[in-house]
Amino acid sequence: LINIKDLKRNFQLGSETIYVLKGIDLQINKGEYVALMGPSGSGKSTLMNLLGCLDSATSGTYILNGNDVSQMHDDDLAEIRNKEIGFVFQTFNLLPRTTALDNVALPMIYAGYSKSERNARATEVLTQVSLADRMDHQPNQLSGGQRQRVAIARALVNKPSIILADEPTGNLDSKTSVEIMNLFNDIHKNGNTVILVTHEEDIAKYAHRIIRLRDGIIESDSPNVDHL
Ligand code: ATP
Ligand code: MG
Repeated sequence: LINIKDLKRNFQLGSETIYVLKGIDLQINKGEYVALMGPSGSGKSTLMNLLGCLDSATSGTYILNGNDVSQMHDDDLAEIRNKEIGFVFQTFNLLPRTTALDNVALPMIYAGYSKSERNARATEVLTQVSLADRMDHQPNQLSGGQRQRVAIARALVNKPSIILADEPTGNLDSKTSVEIMNLFNDIHKNGNTVILVTHEEDIAKYAHRIIRLRDGIIESDSPNVDHL
């Protein structure tokens, strides 16, 4: 599904070049459940942005589902992103004053579905995340955990090949975090590929494979056989 070779990402700050990812080699198969860990500033979000086709590498190759996305320009990259990737963020990133149903249905507008198709599918995924009774609520009328469920439903709505989650429990209390991680477990069991960034060892324990970044390189990559 994901095949990355010697991927590098530099940023230019004035005359200074900042070397963030210094040569990443990585393969992830369909249906894997991966936690990406590492100290602050080690390049986790930078790598997630590349994986999610939100950003392009400075050099190296990235083959996603048979497509060489490292050679693609913005429009093609956006199309691949809409088709293949579902994002979940620490801060939920929902539209305010917009119902849960409409938040979830939004990515389907870009994908060209009719309103009745969008509403039917959005209802289906909101039911899957146990929010069938909250579809008409706006984000400020929902708890943090419920907001993250809406964001997860939105990530699932276009049936992407990969769910990318950057610190999905970072703004949640520990009980709510467990509920959200159980939901990721369900999503993984349904056959989805899940890649999540976390600082917390307790959260990484849910994943079946743990990759640790340090200073822009992969420090370790090992199976987690006693995952939760
Ligand atoms: P955290 O755990 O704090 O979220 P992270 O591992 O996600 O950290 P990144 O956000 O990937 O870290 O950032 C890695 C390094 O790259 C940091 O030193 C950051 O300052 C730098 N960096 C990221 N984006 C840019 C940018 N657009 N321009 C310049 N430097 C950047
Ligand atoms: Mg980060």
